[in-house]
Amino acid sequence: MSKELTALLMERGVYLHEIAQIVYDLQIGFVPGLTLEYCVEVLTGVFEKREVQFAVLTGVALDKLAEANLLPSPLQKIIQSDHLLYGIDEVLGLGIANIYGTIGTTSFGYLDKEKVGVIGRLNFNKMNKVNTFLDDLVAGIAAAAAAKIAHNSISQISNPNSRLVAKG
Ligand code: MG
Repeated sequence: MSKELTALLMERGVYLHEIAQIVYDLQIGFVPGLTLEYCVEVLTGVFEKREVQFAVLTGVALDKLAEANLLPSPLQKIIQSDHLLYGIDEVLGLGIANIYGTIGTTSFGYLDKEKVGVIGRLNFNKMNKVNTFLDDLVAGIAAAAAAKIAHNSISQISNPNSRLVAKG
């Protein structure tokens, strides 16, 4: 399913390495030695989670339906115009961001506000596309991966066995 999800995001113009770059930028200040390859690996794990798959499938389907003018009124206009007060796209993104705890929630808030990297491109460079859900899905995915990396690195530091190794 991870491959299908990657393909679906690619079809919508989002590449895995672009999300990995956001994750890297979020965590490099906290995890020295972090690599883009590791970020891709963690992202692949995030894609394996069923709640992530369901959220992405739902959000992308709504974007595509809005693009094809197939949603019932008044939802068609609301999603097509990315109505400022809609907010359900953020709820879906937050649902993904939360899967590894509150670090994901704060990262999501930051990404949503700053429109970092590909998230900004989706938001500002729309042409005939509808990406109302996609930007929040990508922010949620990046935030969840960042949270997982933070948790992994902290549990490594606090693991008594790894401390013994570090002391030699
Ligand atoms: Mg949005």
